[in-house]
Amino acid sequence: MPKKKTATKRPLSSAKNRLEQLDKQYLWHPFTQMQDWEKEPQVIIESGKGSWLVDTRRKRYLDGISSLWVTVHGHRKKEIDQAVSRQLKKIAHSTLLGLSNVPAVLLAEKLVAIAPKGLSRVFYSDNGSTAVEVALKIAFQYWQQKGPEFQRKTGFLSLTEAYHGDTLGSVSVGGIALFHSLYRPLLFQARRIESPYCYRCKFGLTYPLCQTTCLMHAERTIQKFASVSAALVIEPLVQGAAGMLLQPPGFLKRIRDICTRNNILMIADEVATGFGRTGTMFACEQEKVVPDIMAVAKGITGGYLPLAATLTTEEIYLAFLGEHRDLRTFFHGHTYTGNPLACAAAAANIDLFRKEKTLQRLQPKIKLLAKGLAEMRKLAHVGEVRQKGFMVGIELVKSRLTKEPYVLDEKIGIRVVQECRKNGLIIRPLGNVIVLMPPLSTSPQELERMLDIVHAAIKRVTEKA
Ligand SMILES: *Cc1c(COP(=O)(O)O)cnc(C)c1O
Repeated sequence: MPKKKTATKRPLSSAKNRLEQLDKQYLWHPFTQMQDWEKEPQVIIESGKGSWLVDTRRKRYLDGISSLWVTVHGHRKKEIDQAVSRQLKKIAHSTLLGLSNVPAVLLAEKLVAIAPKGLSRVFYSDNGSTAVEVALKIAFQYWQQKGPEFQRKTGFLSLTEAYHGDTLGSVSVGGIALFHSLYRPLLFQARRIESPYCYRCKFGLTYPLCQTTCLMHAERTIQKFASVSAALVIEPLVQGAAGMLLQPPGFLKRIRDICTRNNILMIADEVATGFGRTGTMFACEQEKVVPDIMAVAKGITGGYLPLAATLTTEEIYLAFLGEHRDLRTFFHGHTYTGNPLACAAAAANIDLFRKEKTLQRLQPKIKLLAKGLAEMRKLAHVGEVRQKGFMVGIELVKSRLTKEPYVLDEKIGIRVVQECRKNGLIIRPLGNVIVLMPPLSTSPQELERMLDIVHAAIKRVTEKA
């Protein structure tokens, strides 16, 4: 194991060593082999500002993945800090069950105003997985209540390689074998359509010569199962956790049309893509698509507090109205639903988009990122570089010619990320894919620095061996 470089001249205080000890003694980290974790030196973040994170040893790092895809306007953003502390002086929490609260109401109006037109109702929960659970249950119940002729519409369609979260319903519609196969006995069955992973096309074809054969197959599958399906779930434009897989232009729009024609609902999981990440407020906008249900989370509070929302059309909402005894109520809710602190942060986050012209100012930075990525493409072991807005995946391969992947044991992604960390950039790989997803507020200089660090790290790790 390489010894960690000591980044600071001052001696480490024992308090800081103690923190690491306590971490290893008491914590269980997500998606982490704790046996490895316990053996290796670990970084403990103590503070942050803008695009920067600072650890307990005072080493500074650029935050290249927006603290796992959530930070939007940077850390310790004045307006969001103030919104949360203002709300703290009023009340930290009150329930939405049988009561309402001010920030939850005001945020709902803001969410509907920025959402694709037609989505008019907001149901809150706490994270992306629950936002998807809520979407699945609403879609299921909608058809049960719509009429006896629709009662067989209980199933779901989703894409291979999909990621919709880690709760059991979300895992059921997910398609990443590494995360999901073990739990198979606990899951309900979902019907799959092939993900348009063009670099490794399942049909062995090349875009655009393929004339999106995958869509033909998708249409056939959807038609076949439409009468027993409530909805299709899709991450619009980018399948994030799969390694930033991009859908070819027109794919999402066609899927929308196919869902409409076959009378199944379309659930857009904008948990990763929402709030500017793809260059527009929501990914669906880029194909002028309005889903029936939309799940949002990650960026909603600008990276401040856990909050999620599931938006639906008025038509779906109306199917849940009735007399108390009709039991059309949506029987779902989490204790912290509509938490006032989180809603206040989210409202401030959304206001900042207008105030700072965030999306407008993002466009030249997206181009800058593309320019830097073009350099990455020239590296010997970069198979494909995928970019949509500020979402980037760099797929490393053993051989560019055969697209042979690195095997798990080589830990290639992990090694590149460790090299970046030494040089002051925090990122996290998805298998052999190096992910970059900087806060939208990242400056051009910071972007260039991130790109330089990643370029050098890939070169060093892949060309050394
Ligand atoms: C992260 C993610 C989720 C799950 O969100 P959590 O807040 O981690 O539960 C769901 N869908 C997509 C597309 C995601 O990227």
